[in-house]
Amino acid sequence: MEALRHFPRTHLILAATLVATLAVVLIASARHPDPNATLLITSAPVLDPFAGAALELKPLAELTSALPDEADSGSEIGLSVQDIETSKPQVRKVTETVRSGDSLARIFSRQSLSPRTLHELMTNTPEAKRLKRIYPGHELHFVIDEDNQLQQLTYAFSRLEKLVIEANADGFKAKEIKREPETVLTFRKGEIRSSLFLAGQAADLDQSTILRFAQIFQWDIDFIRDIRTGDTFSLLYEEQYLDGEFIGVGRILAATFTNRGREHRAVRYDAEDGSSGYFTPEGRSVRRAFLRAPLEFTRVSSRFNPRRLHPIHNRAAPHRGIDYAAPTGTPVWAAGDGRVRTASRTEANGNYIVLQHGEQFQTKYLHLSRIARGIRPGAQVSQGQVIGYVGATGWATGPHLHYEFLVNGVHRDPATVSLPNADPVADSEMSRFLARSAPLLAMLDSEEQLYQLAARQ
Ligand SMILES: [Zn+2]
Repeated sequence: MEALRHFPRTHLILAATLVATLAVVLIASARHPDPNATLLITSAPVLDPFAGAALELKPLAELTSALPDEADSGSEIGLSVQDIETSKPQVRKVTETVRSGDSLARIFSRQSLSPRTLHELMTNTPEAKRLKRIYPGHELHFVIDEDNQLQQLTYAFSRLEKLVIEANADGFKAKEIKREPETVLTFRKGEIRSSLFLAGQAADLDQSTILRFAQIFQWDIDFIRDIRTGDTFSLLYEEQYLDGEFIGVGRILAATFTNRGREHRAVRYDAEDGSSGYFTPEGRSVRRAFLRAPLEFTRVSSRFNPRRLHPIHNRAAPHRGIDYAAPTGTPVWAAGDGRVRTASRTEANGNYIVLQHGEQFQTKYLHLSRIARGIRPGAQVSQGQVIGYVGATGWATGPHLHYEFLVNGVHRDPATVSLPNADPVADSEMSRFLARSAPLLAMLDSEEQLYQLAARQ
């Protein structure tokens, strides 16, 4: 049908004439023409092609519409396949590789597609929003018809996801096509000789998986200072394959780290509300409610010291926080989930923020060059969210973050205060958690035993 709509009229007439001619030839070669065939001859005055075309137009349209898109060459009625094929609209298929600094508008204009088409496409299909972020090197596949109208646009975001936009009578319609990779559970085990990174490499783990593994245990283990030769680790994670080819690492489902003889275990849990995290086999979060330091710093320039004497005046001038030296502009994160209590400026503090975490805890961030957008009293923040940037505003001699940690209104040393764990698995989800985590931990244990058996032989 699609092809018919674009049939130029002259082609139809020629085709109709051809049918009539063929019919005549067929009938003429038949020894015993049947009466119907004779009728056809008389109704198609082949000597006058234009008259014949006019007569035959309607039946031909019916015949053609009954044909499948790729016309069947064995067609009994003698309709010329060649004619249908050549009269199909000429479409061009173009692949555009996104260049650096490219925009969709630029690419459309390179293909001489009108800005109106782009506008229609973006407003018609909410899915097209994803096209606002296109990356250099990625490919856009266009199908454009002979009138230079866009028929189809395909963009593969990744090997697993693509967006297909097609023109229809109402404008454009988009669909997202997702492929599910095949997942293979994989076990790896390693032993530390010098660093976690090298041991991870020796155990066939890629850099990002090693990093993700370290992040799970970051709250309990400092992978620079705490690790010792002979520490061991194991993990159960997903490897993803597409058409038999390895495409990447999925989730780490369970992991152990034995540090100086003490074993830490963590299992991933995807909660009913869609959140996910790592928990001990009993359901306690392995994460702390607070980051130890709320930024990436170069060094501690002044420690917590409640009995410090002022260097010049020789009187008590307690240092109630830690000074972390870092370049101006270094992002400062919320140490924990909470609410902004103050985001303001004073002569001494410069730009500063106070966060309230539940009833008990407060954290303070001083001398910021700038407070992040949206950080105003009452705003909710989550752990790790950027709230401001390191600076030297207020009484500060160089760029640093002065960070304070208060428990029930009392200043504590942020470097040593014991940090509460993040929320455990909710009571209401405990049976679901146990049902999911137990098989993973059992698998980790049995793999470990197999590994040790093999090592002994
Ligand atoms: Zn300070």
